[in-house]
Amino acid sequence: MPELSDTQKFLAVRQWQEDPLVHPLTCSRDGEELFPRLVKDRGVILICGKCGMTQTNIPEPVLKMYDGHTDPYKKVVDMLRSRG
Ligand SMILES: [Zn+2]
Repeated sequence: MPELSDTQKFLAVRQWQEDPLVHPLTCSRDGEELFPRLVKDRGVILICGKCGMTQTNIPEPVLKMYDGHTDPYKKVVDMLRSRG
């Protein structure tokens, strides 16, 4: 698959975190949800909303899962529709 742009990576993480069907990425310290942040010259990082810990590595499944949808609810609706 082609390399995603930083914006697409950002959206991929956001989509993953909002997806009700997957377990969200969480902070290794306190288990709080991580948020994507686009940082100049560093690309996309993950940051804990509680303790501020940052993680630079975005897990591969998160990027693979990205399908261009920016609305997780629409995605679920599409999924249910395709099942008939
Ligand atoms: Zn934390």
